[in-house]
Amino acid sequence: MNEKQESSTIKPACLPWYKPFLAQLRGLKQQQRLPHAILLSIPGEQSHTDFLWYLSMVLLCENSQHEAPCGECSSCQLMVANTYPDFKLVSLEHDDKTKKINKNIKIEQVRNLIHEVYLTRSYDNLKIVVIYPADKMSIAGANSLLKTLEEPAAQVVIILATHHSGKIPVTIRSRCQQWNLDNPERTEALAWLQQQGMNDDAAIQYLEFADGDPLAAINLKEIGFIDMLGEFKQHFTQYLKKQIDVTKLCQLLTTNDVSLTRRLISMVIKAYCFQFCGLQGQQPMLRKKSAQAMMDLLKRSEQQLMIEDNNLDLQLQLEDVLISVKQIITSNH
Ligand SMILES: [Zn+2]
Repeated sequence: MNEKQESSTIKPACLPWYKPFLAQLRGLKQQQRLPHAILLSIPGEQSHTDFLWYLSMVLLCENSQHEAPCGECSSCQLMVANTYPDFKLVSLEHDDKTKKINKNIKIEQVRNLIHEVYLTRSYDNLKIVVIYPADKMSIAGANSLLKTLEEPAAQVVIILATHHSGKIPVTIRSRCQQWNLDNPERTEALAWLQQQGMNDDAAIQYLEFADGDPLAAINLKEIGFIDMLGEFKQHFTQYLKKQIDVTKLCQLLTTNDVSLTRRLISMVIKAYCFQFCGLQGQQPMLRKKSAQAMMDLLKRSEQQLMIEDNNLDLQLQLEDVLISVKQIITSNH
């Protein structure tokens, strides 16, 4: 049992821009053409557990004329009560010993799942299995799933949901139908943020901070991202002026969550990209070269900093990126 399944207050959630996707899935169900395995690529990094729950309710609901789950049929009621026998969500488990969330979905979890899919299901109903985040399956776990994907059981839909579809092994990917969820268009995103209580200016600003991801925009506002950014800029200036060294700057940065650290770094690099592109200097070639170098660094750092924990490896990669930023900036003076 994972945390979600123990929860008694499930709040199904559907963002308006995901509705066309749900309508398509529902259409496939009605035509009995649902794929047996779906690789669902989700934008951003914000948790989509509630949405995946909602999606499953949409597929399991017995009143298919409704756009949303009816909430009244026996499937909906069992889903809300978290007692639906033919739905399973496999996720990262809480480890009672370490008191932390496990880093991987373990092979035992996948094996139990396979066992359930083949042996304990009732054959009358559609069964939905969601693995999320699917990129966190251990290699052994992913391998044990292969056979299930190759020889699908009737009436079973396996949904592998991930924010990093590139990390899913090709062997798994090639056996799934791939679907991508996207962030909404800017106008829709801004309107939605305003509905959530943000004023115009805040919506514009936070949507930009969040690279167009409205859920991340809400999150960044809640955690006071503007203050963090201000503080980071201050430390970064001290670093450029040699008042603090790279190790100190990294230490200050890594007090944040890893994804926030990545966001702060990429914002600073992007700001310099724009600055170099827009500057009318004496040496346009040099500016152009620096802008290009920053853009290359931005791409490289996004790869380099895709580390999930605040550990020594992150510290080293961060230092490397920060040293490169400084080199490019100082070569411009
Ligand atoms: Zn229903």
